Amino acid sequence: MIENAIELNVNGEKGLTKSPLFVDVALPLPIRSTFTYCLNQLHPFSRRGVRLLVPFRKKQLIGIALRFHNETPEFETKPVFEIIDQEPFVDEAFLSFLEEAANYYLHPIGEVLKAAIPAPFWDPRRAKGQIRTRDDSLWIERSELPLPPRLGSRQRDVIALLESQGALPLKEVLALTAASAQTIRQLERRGLIRKKAPPSAPLRATEQALELSLEQRQVLLSIASVIEQSKPSTFLLHGVTGSGKTEVYLQVIQKAIALGKSAIVLVPEIALTSQLLRRFRSRFGDEVAVLHSGMRESERFREWERIRRGQAKIALGARSAVFAPVQKLGIIVIDEEHDPSYKQEEGFRYHARDMGILRAIRSGGVALLGSATPSLESFYHAKQGKYVLLSLEKRVTPHPLPQVELIDLRRAPMAPTEALLSLPLCQAIEQTIASKEQVLLFINRRGFAPVLWCPSCRRPLECPFCSVCLTEHRRLGLLRCHYCDHATPIDDRCPYCDFPRVERLGAGTERVETALAHLFPQARIARLDRDTATLSSIDKILEGMHRGEIDILIGTQMVTKGHDLPNLTLVGVLCAEHSLFFPDFRAAERTFQLLTQVAGRAGRGLKPGRVIFQSHEPELSVIQQALKHQYEAFAKEELERRRELLYPPYGRLVAIRVDAPSQEEAIRCASQLAAAARSTPPVQHGKVQVLGPAPCPIERIRNRYRHQVLLKGSERRALRECARAVLQLMEGGLGKVRATLDVDPVNML
Ligand code: ADP
Ligand code: ZN
Repeated sequence: MIENAIELNVNGEKGLTKSPLFVDVALPLPIRSTFTYCLNQLHPFSRRGVRLLVPFRKKQLIGIALRFHNETPEFETKPVFEIIDQEPFVDEAFLSFLEEAANYYLHPIGEVLKAAIPAPFWDPRRAKGQIRTRDDSLWIERSELPLPPRLGSRQRDVIALLESQGALPLKEVLALTAASAQTIRQLERRGLIRKKAPPSAPLRATEQALELSLEQRQVLLSIASVIEQSKPSTFLLHGVTGSGKTEVYLQVIQKAIALGKSAIVLVPEIALTSQLLRRFRSRFGDEVAVLHSGMRESERFREWERIRRGQAKIALGARSAVFAPVQKLGIIVIDEEHDPSYKQEEGFRYHARDMGILRAIRSGGVALLGSATPSLESFYHAKQGKYVLLSLEKRVTPHPLPQVELIDLRRAPMAPTEALLSLPLCQAIEQTIASKEQVLLFINRRGFAPVLWCPSCRRPLECPFCSVCLTEHRRLGLLRCHYCDHATPIDDRCPYCDFPRVERLGAGTERVETALAHLFPQARIARLDRDTATLSSIDKILEGMHRGEIDILIGTQMVTKGHDLPNLTLVGVLCAEHSLFFPDFRAAERTFQLLTQVAGRAGRGLKPGRVIFQSHEPELSVIQQALKHQYEAFAKEELERRRELLYPPYGRLVAIRVDAPSQEEAIRCASQLAAAARSTPPVQHGKVQVLGPAPCPIERIRNRYRHQVLLKGSERRALRECARAVLQLMEGGLGKVRATLDVDPVNML
């Protein structure tokens, strides 16, 4: 009894001296409330964070215990079937972090837990195997014996798993299938599977830390001393491209590990970071576990378990790795913290950078945000003293930041193509290839022509289901919609007036590639964009660049991110102002980031780099600032504009978007939601502004009409009160209308 009381105190339920009768459980469902079940004598005493098997609408579900208590509910409760874990499945620091995340984004806790914890842990049929075996050294594999015609369904599951994945630890097979130890024994007796020694030779660290530059050493010292004191804090490392940020991350993490702590490293897109992963692996060997959404379930499960058990101390991955179950978190590194892909845009809409900061603070760790072009939010917080600002102003590589040249597309002589290639840029390309160096060209549009236009009826060809133009993909012979994937064969005839010859306007990566192949028939040309990219093909192209098998690489924003290619000496931006006119208040920031990042790819090796921006409006201040590497000047001007309009970081936003099969329904619903917002005290007292309803910039996608309402204000509490009122209406059911609420929205289209 005394023990129980102590445990309950750990649980935060002071005053409870009897064993608890009830438990509040979060279920992985899109329902805001938790569910109360009753306990009985048969249930061992247990703590918050364990998984429970409970009945729910004629089904069995796994949920997570959030609170044990003795408050008899007014409704009748069903008993818990079983308590699955003996120890909490997730620790208190992690669980309370997830609760806080749910609360911040006004999202159901069950769905937050479901986003954070991999699927196999939620499967009642598999849950048993997850605790039964703890032995990691026992592996099994499929034998050569052909399968008999008749096999039980569980046996078949095991065979299918082994055949698709090769040898696996027994523990994992039990966890990933509904098989029992007995199923495995039967299969073994029949000779269909056999035991196997675990793969030998754990991955060892092979690489030594580099000797740091003075600047790097100072940065390392400031962060390391804070980790040592377990003083939660956030650092913003503003380091120009090539200043050696990654080396600082590696050595800071080394310090954290030496202190017995663990680390999380977030990167924007795992596909583009195989180079970074290799550097981490060669420094830390098996201590690194990788997590990302493109992994096979069994791999993800294995890595998750390695982290949860403390076998891997470093979790590296894309945004969802912010939920890696590390214990004793020392540091979270958020590399390229400005990158918009840190925002999850579906379901549980969270920002991994912001959640990373929250998590670090709640676990007494350090958040280290790194970027050559910090987001204005982070830069502002650093200037305000909320974060510690550290900078690396010099490149560690032999050459300083490259000079950028500007070409005015209104005046420059053009190559005889329609692919936005000026003659001076072509000459620079020619020289670069002649001296056996590499070229990177950036244009943020894929496909051949982004717009087809009928000169007779003067209409652009649009997607029948979305209010956007179709893009010509000539290689595929298709006109394609980039929003709904609708595709039709290319036809030169206008679908509206039957005029026989539509015109192509503008250029995408494919058109540039075709033009270059004509202009430089000798050159080896590759293209990197979402059309060519699968995980392995990206790797292949980047490897090809490293090995010098590619002379010219053309790509979309994928090529701007983090690559370190020593022989790359010329970077060309075909249309520098392209992303500036998007209907998004962050368009200038995004443009500055893209230009600076892509320019930063040049001249990182032994030879100096050269960068050329082409633009139709070269006098624009964003372009001028990027040209001269003037981040601070850019930030100052842009922050001033944001302040006037009360946009982030000065104000906060909540976006409410509705979509419906008809324009009228969408407008009606958006108006109701806006009215609900307007009737709340924060709006009436002028603390929150309600903007809209208004059509979204892309008014129609997949034949659904889209409208939005924006809530804007500087006080978080006032905004939440207003947002809650809207949510309440949304949850009452909206018929055919769908509505979502997005706290701190990133995508404004
Ligand atoms: P960033 O991430 O800031 O763009 P990186 O960390 O990729 O820069 O460093 C650029 C290059 O410089 C890499 O090839 C890296 O190995 C090298 N480098 C980093 N720090 C040092 C150092 N102290 N001494 C020598 N080379 C270094
Ligand atoms: Zn479409």
